[in-house]
Amino acid sequence: MACVSFPYDAPVSQTLFDRASLVTPGGVNSPVRAFRAVGGTPRFMVSGSGPYLTDADGREYVDLVCSWGPMILGHSHPEVIAAVQEAVARGTSFGTPGEGEVALAEEIVARVEPVEQVRLVSSGTEATMSAIRLARGFTGRAKVVKFAGCYHGHVDALLAAAGSGVATFGLPDTPGVTGAQAGDTIVLPYNDLEAVREAFAAHPGEIACVITEASPGNMGVVPPLDGFNAGLKELCAANGALYISDEVMTGFRTSKAGWFGVDGVRPDLMTFGKVMGGGFPAAAFGGRADVMAHLAPAGPVYQAGTLSGNPIATAAGLAQLRLLDDAAYAKVDAVSAEIRGLVSEALAKEGVAHTVQAASNMFSVFFTDRPVRNYEDAKQQEAFRFTAFFHSLLSQGVYLPPSAFESWFVSTAHDTQAVERIAAALPAAARAASEAIA
Ligand code: PLP
Repeated sequence: MACVSFPYDAPVSQTLFDRASLVTPGGVNSPVRAFRAVGGTPRFMVSGSGPYLTDADGREYVDLVCSWGPMILGHSHPEVIAAVQEAVARGTSFGTPGEGEVALAEEIVARVEPVEQVRLVSSGTEATMSAIRLARGFTGRAKVVKFAGCYHGHVDALLAAAGSGVATFGLPDTPGVTGAQAGDTIVLPYNDLEAVREAFAAHPGEIACVITEASPGNMGVVPPLDGFNAGLKELCAANGALYISDEVMTGFRTSKAGWFGVDGVRPDLMTFGKVMGGGFPAAAFGGRADVMAHLAPAGPVYQAGTLSGNPIATAAGLAQLRLLDDAAYAKVDAVSAEIRGLVSEALAKEGVAHTVQAASNMFSVFFTDRPVRNYEDAKQQEAFRFTAFFHSLLSQGVYLPPSAFESWFVSTAHDTQAVERIAAALPAAARAASEAIA
């Protein structure tokens, strides 16, 4: 970061950030928004339209974050906005069952075949936390296997990504998570089936579930190797554990049926969020009916939420999902491929070592020429080049995720004009990346 300068061209954002920092820890309500990985002033956005965001200083950006995935139709899609306005006019929350949540649950069940029953919640974190509780309640076992570099929200038991080697017991990644909370978490290297086999051998009858991102996007995009997810499923089935596929990021984004629609491996439980909420706080977990039957009030495993199935969120999610047909996915996939090609071409021209990895239309750029198969590989990249690349693009009106370890997201609204703006900004950004010094 040392050699990157931050043109002080966001005075209104800076003023807002200063105000925010007085009343909110670090000035933000979710840490990555603070730009700590790249430095500089976080941009405070005031509006979004199609592929563009406008900040408080009146500058427009082509958005390659899409609210970290949800905005797959672009910002302010007229049909989603209309559905929300219609729902708002009827009232904002009733705390009773409502038809909207039934319709959204039916849409999820219809799209994702392994989901026989689904429970709506308000965040991806709640979805994974609840799925793990259910897996433990269903199996009567305590231990959970997760993979280093996979993020499943800020669930205590899953904030343990440290450690390496086989069957490393999770050490909490953050103060506030006790050894007891993380002690039943086994953290293994991603894409390493042998490590999973060894963990089951070392803990017979103790592992409740293996949870994995269906195709990880939280260490950058690191798709599962051929057979990895199928191998997890097999090992879980052979050892009486549940296979939980976290599709909060990939769900309804990487295909109509998310990553399940790509690899066809049938999980016992799945988690969803992001796209299914249409930009509102809605998420879900679901799967085998015999497992879901253990959830209160049908069964003994408690789980609840004041705003679960909120009528505005379900209306937005349903409107968005209903617009996501085959043609929409073909469009998002195509624009993703086009932008990946442009990025790679620009970096190659400047001789910058890089690897672009994709999972359907999710993608990220690693500043290394080696394939990235797990978190350790991802950490080997020259992240300082990303910082220079990021700030050059930002100053030219292209908004990337402010970290080298995140997926980039596009939408059906990313049209030729938006792609041309990115293409025009790339040569200078690639040059900045090539000139960057660690
Ligand atoms: N699971 C995955 C794979 C995610 O990417 C995220 C968030 O980025 C979560 C869970 C947590 O979701 P939320 O931020 O809605 O709590």
